[in-house]
Formats: sequence, C-alpha cells, structure tokens
Amino acid sequence: MNTPPFDFAVQDCPLAPATLYKVGGNARWALVPRDAAEAIAACTWMLEQADRHLILGRGSNVLISDEGFPGYVLITTGLTGIEALGDDRYRVEGGVDLDVLVREVIVPNDYHGAGALTGIPGSVGGAIYMNAGTVNGATCDFLESVDLAGPNGVVTAAMDPSKYAYRSQAFCTPDDLILQGVFRFEPSDEDQLAIYNRYIERRSQKQPRGDCCGSVFKNPESGHAGQLIEACGLKGKRRGGAVVSPMHANFIMNEDNATFEDIVGLIGLCKQRVREQFGIELQEEVRIVT
Ligand SMILES: Cc1cc2nc3c(=O)[nH]c(=O)nc-3n(C[C@H](O)[C@H](O)[C@H](O)COP(=O)(O)OP(=O)(O)OC[C@H]3O[C@@H](n4cnc5c(N)ncnc54)[C@H](O)[C@@H]3O)c2cc1C
Repeated sequence: MNTPPFDFAVQDCPLAPATLYKVGGNARWALVPRDAAEAIAACTWMLEQADRHLILGRGSNVLISDEGFPGYVLITTGLTGIEALGDDRYRVEGGVDLDVLVREVIVPNDYHGAGALTGIPGSVGGAIYMNAGTVNGATCDFLESVDLAGPNGVVTAAMDPSKYAYRSQAFCTPDDLILQGVFRFEPSDEDQLAIYNRYIERRSQKQPRGDCCGSVFKNPESGHAGQLIEACGLKGKRRGGAVVSPMHANFIMNEDNATFEDIVGLIGLCKQRVREQFGIELQEEVRIVT
C-alpha cells in the first residue's frame, strides 16, 4: 500500500472517535485535508490507488467494522468555509457542520429550512450525500448546485428534483467527494428561531441520547420502521453492549462498549422479524463499512 504524499495523512488512524457510534477499528491511512485544494489533491491521489477508499464526514450515519478499514479514508472536517453570494445564495463547503448552517445562516435570516434541517448531526457534505432531512423537507431541496471532485476531475452538478429522492441521490457516487454546495434559500414569514427551538426540544423528548447513528432503517413505503420493529416486540432487545432503544425502536444504541457484531446482529434480527411478521424488507439507512 502506498504512503500518501501529504503532511495531513495519518497512519493507523482510529475511526471509532470519528463516528457517533464510537465503534470501529483503524483506517490504514486517514487523509484530513485542511482546505479545498488539499481535498482535491487527496481525492485525486486516492482514486489513483489500487486500495479501497472511503469518504467520511462527521460519521453520524456510518457503522465501521471492528477490523477497521484496510484502505484510505478521506475525512472532510477541515472544509469549513461558508460564503454569502448575495440574493439568498450561499456557497457552503462539505465539512461545515449542518447545525452551523442552520444556526448561522437559516435562523438569523429567517429562511425556510429550520423545520427540515434542525437537529440532524453531521456535515453538509454528508447531508447532501444522504439527502438528510425530516418530514418537513430534505437537504437537496435547498441546493442550486454541487461541486464534486471525482474520477472526472472537479465538476459542477446543477440540482433539480429528478436527481434526488427520500434519503438518496443520483448525482454523487461513492468515488465523488462533495467539495461544496451552493444553497439558495427562500425568505420565510415565520420565526425560524422559534421553529429551531421547538424541534430541538421535540428531539430531546422523543429521541434517545447516546452513541448511535439515528434511524438505522429507512421508512418503508407504508408505515414506519420503528413502529414495525416495536410491533415485533424488539424494543429493549439486547445483544452484547447494543440495545434496540426502549424509547424509539428504529434507534440501536451503543450502550456499553458494543462491538460491530453486536449492532449488526440486532440489525439482522430486526430485519428478520419484520420480514417474518409483515413481509416487509427493511432497508438500512446507516452505511455499514466492512
Ligand atoms: C442522533 C441522530 C439523529 C439523526 N437524525 C436524522 C434525521 O432526522 N434525518 C436524517 O436524514 N438523518 C439523521 N441522522 C443521520 C445522519 O445525521 C445524517 O445522515 C447525516 O447527514 C450524515 O452526515 P455525516 O457528515 O455524519 O456523514 P457520514 O456519516 O460521515 O457519512 C454518511 C455517508 O455520506 C458520505 N459522505 C459524507 N460526506 C461526504 C462528502 N463530503 N462527499 C461525498 N460523500 C460524503 C459517506 O461516504 C457515507 O456514505 C441522525 C443521526 C443521529 C446520530
């Protein structure tokens, strides 16, 4: 395996602290660029290597194997720029904390969006990749374009609704790095700070606290994944240090030094029981990295 020619490369880098599950072994190499130029250079070099690669934002939607990752992991947390372009448009780099975008751009300007994006952990790049959101809307709804570094160099993808859907999108492959997005927001008549505070409060009442990835499964076309799992009697079900949250059955918590296998075991059990009882095949929202 080639040694990366960058002073921001870290050998045998622990990945568990880089995820909200706090699970996972080491990356053979982590690349942690400090700006867009370094990120483009790192991505270009990484794609030329024969070994595997992975892009990581803030690790709020990934479950990484205890064996670690036997390749290169590009971590975007150094890409933190936000630039106001005028006319309610903003260029936002992929490593910006989504909550910073909400608190520092959407809320003070009273733009539509606090209802959709409040309380979702992670980076803007991760939110674009996952099309993260809530019943009130999702990240790609607010995007005008995205700049990607990938096999074709740096390209700009114009956004339109045909390119994304519920928790998915079709413009960014696992080989592409989301460098930045241009957001265009709409002014709102509602007090977005009040909306922000309401949703933060609601999450603190309805969502369990602790190490997790949020919802493990996407909601199927009919029904809610959490309700289906609860109806199978799996709330509170334990395996090793992992537990199906007694508060919200679509959350599997790392309660007590859970291993990758503990969590994957519960994921498999939930899928099996829901399949047997309802004939529905649950799909993981969490990205499982082995
Ligand atoms: C408590 C909790 C609550 C949550 N609530 C919600 C919710 O309400 N709605 C919701 O949609 N999600 C929710 N999530 C899931 C998660 O926060 C989102 O999916 C988030 O957008 C992931 O961002 P990230 O930066 O952490 O991505 P990561 O977990 O680091 O990565 C997720 C995926 O995105 C890719 N990726 C990340 N950054 C980039 C980039 N710059 N370029 C290319 N690919 C990239 C990764 O390769 C990976 O496949 C929740 C999670 C937790 C822990």
